[in-house]
Amino acid sequence: MRRAKILATLGPASNSDEMIGKLLDAGVDAVRLNFSHGSHDDHAQVYAKVREQSGIRRKPVAVLGDLQGPKIRVGAIPDPGMELTRGDTLQLLTDTSQDIDVAAKRVTIDYPRLADEARVGDRVLMDDGALEARVATIVDGELHCEIVTGGLLKARKGVNLPDSPLQLPSLTDKDRADLRFALELGVDLLALSFVRRPEDLELCRQLMVELGRELPLVAKIEKPEAVAADTLPKIIDAANGIMIARGDLGVELGPEEVPLLQKQLIRLSNERGKLVITATQMLDSMIRNPRPTRAEASDVANAILDGSDAVMLSGETAAGGYPVESVQTMDRIVRRIEQTETYWLDPPKDMLLGHTTNAVARAAVISSRSLPDCKGIICYTGSGGIARLVSDYRPKVPIYAFTPQPATFQALALYWGVVPIRFQASSPTGDGIFIDLDHAMLERGFERGDRVVIALGWPLKAHTSVNLLKLHKVGETLRAG
Ligand code: PEP
Repeated sequence: MRRAKILATLGPASNSDEMIGKLLDAGVDAVRLNFSHGSHDDHAQVYAKVREQSGIRRKPVAVLGDLQGPKIRVGAIPDPGMELTRGDTLQLLTDTSQDIDVAAKRVTIDYPRLADEARVGDRVLMDDGALEARVATIVDGELHCEIVTGGLLKARKGVNLPDSPLQLPSLTDKDRADLRFALELGVDLLALSFVRRPEDLELCRQLMVELGRELPLVAKIEKPEAVAADTLPKIIDAANGIMIARGDLGVELGPEEVPLLQKQLIRLSNERGKLVITATQMLDSMIRNPRPTRAEASDVANAILDGSDAVMLSGETAAGGYPVESVQTMDRIVRRIEQTETYWLDPPKDMLLGHTTNAVARAAVISSRSLPDCKGIICYTGSGGIARLVSDYRPKVPIYAFTPQPATFQALALYWGVVPIRFQASSPTGDGIFIDLDHAMLERGFERGDRVVIALGWPLKAHTSVNLLKLHKVGETLRAG
């Protein structure tokens, strides 16, 4: 069983029933709906297909709704796009009612205050930094920019201005509408792009509370402000997890900053028991080719060796020519690394979180390591909290999360080493839970006498936090036969 999870971005190359089914079969554990692209209607259709294919396979799939955040984009340029060469003047129009003119190299940009906040000489990076320009003059709400590195500029491509002191909001009106829509749709986790301060996450969480559904919140780390030494730990503490959004991170800080930051971000998240997803360009060449470069294979391997909970595919599955092959390749690389001894050498230290759930989670993992025949850690959980914490301590055995909650069942699919199982306890008093679990484990293929470690909150009906660890033999509560 593979422990680290695969998160795949869905898009035009992968939004049919057939392709979603193939991706799940190839090893996808979670999908990303990227609200930077597509209408609510498009996302609702894809979401329904994911749930259907997941139901057919009885395979839990976590759905992550990714809010665009304050990302600046150019307007709708007709296909095939606008060819820009070094020395050209590109005009960026903040009045979006103006017409785009490909021949005159005039394009709208969706940040109305750009002409007030950008300065002459600032860099304008487009399409993940593939194209670069510098602001030459600013006149009447228009930025005239000299192209430094040319290329083909296509519709709705992202624009980064790393030198400009922009006053972008934490959540745009579009984000608020997308958040409401995502909650109504039923996604399992939310990600917020371009987080700059912990307050951005608090605002997002407050909105979820107002809308009556609080989901695990993932902070996408891609801004220089976010990685400042005094801010970063606060952002990680304010989030349930982070995504190392290496695309924009590399544009904003320079690619040479990404490798060390990636290691630091993974370490800080693991020390705090937070989910960490390494994302973007992991198998980028597989957008065009059926095989990865050796450098890409090493990149996935290193992200796993460093301690990522999950690795993400973006263009490879959303828009590439080889979505299934990309997932299969990622699956093989992750499995190969997890077979090595080095991967398991350095078990995480006590996170000292000061609550019983942490103490039980750590004790469960230590017990499972000292029982050589242990077949798994069984968590009976409503919110999924104990399973997530056990996951953070990286046990060698699988974590079976038995839960009555559909949302927990799905969300846990993204967490390292967790096998979510739908389970309703029939007798939530006395020893009944152990009898129910014994039946459920036998149905799942465990054998009588198999050694497991069980963690749960006792007594069940008091909804107490997790406080009980039982070293258990499967079937021991059942009569022989
Ligand atoms: C990134 O920039 O790496 C990223 C994950 O963001 P998105 O794909 O949403 O642009």
